[in-house]
Amino acid sequence: MEREVKLYMFQTGVLKCRENNIKMNASLDPYEIPVPWYLITHPKGNVVIDGGNAVECALDPVSHWGNITEVYWPVMDSSEGCVETLMNMGIECESVRYVLQSHLHLDHTGAVGRFPNATHVVQRSEYAYAFTPDWFAAGGYIRKDFDKPNLKWHFLELDFNDIYDLYGDGVVRIIPTPGHSPGHCSFLITLPNSGSILIAVDAAYTTEHWDERVLPGFLASAVDSVRSVKKLHEIAAKYDAMVVTGHDPIKWETFRKGPEAFYG
Ligand SMILES: [Zn+2]
Repeated sequence: MEREVKLYMFQTGVLKCRENNIKMNASLDPYEIPVPWYLITHPKGNVVIDGGNAVECALDPVSHWGNITEVYWPVMDSSEGCVETLMNMGIECESVRYVLQSHLHLDHTGAVGRFPNATHVVQRSEYAYAFTPDWFAAGGYIRKDFDKPNLKWHFLELDFNDIYDLYGDGVVRIIPTPGHSPGHCSFLITLPNSGSILIAVDAAYTTEHWDERVLPGFLASAVDSVRSVKKLHEIAAKYDAMVVTGHDPIKWETFRKGPEAFYG
């Protein structure tokens, strides 16, 4: 069993959309974004972050996601689903102790309810919003992906400047970054050799968004979005962290990808 602290980066394929879905006021040109998810192996129990798309999207996107597929069309192979990925690398589903949810949008909920021993960690504000989204955000939440029976949840109620250290050892830190969605979180992963890696998730879709040159094409609050990026800049500087943006097709290519490669 994998017990060393390592960070693996994966993706459940891509979403086909338009450039202006990702960058505010950009073109209507076709645009393709990766759908990342992450595994952290840890002696106290393995951790999955987000899990990408639900594996059902590999077979029949329209029946699983409905009309939102007119905006975001998922292209993935069932072998990219988070459970099959872990099984193929010899990591038992039972070893996953936590599933951490940056937020509950449809391309981030692929791990919920798939790991029998997992506690699912999400901000309470995100969980509440996912059941009662405003009209413009409703298509992004697929209730059957997170409203499942017998799930173990741990709800975080973090203030903006709080940081939640999952194991108390500084390896996995959860940072509230509202804006993209009301209860969004980012993650600071600190590894023995690779140092700190800041997984912004959708707090910063792309490098342009991180660099404060463009707003994202989707958000719940522009003000909160911008202030979360500003805070992440300070954290990245403090920890000398490598930054991983949420859906940047060019930047994503530059990272090591599991299962072959990892950050240790
Ligand atoms: Zn999102």
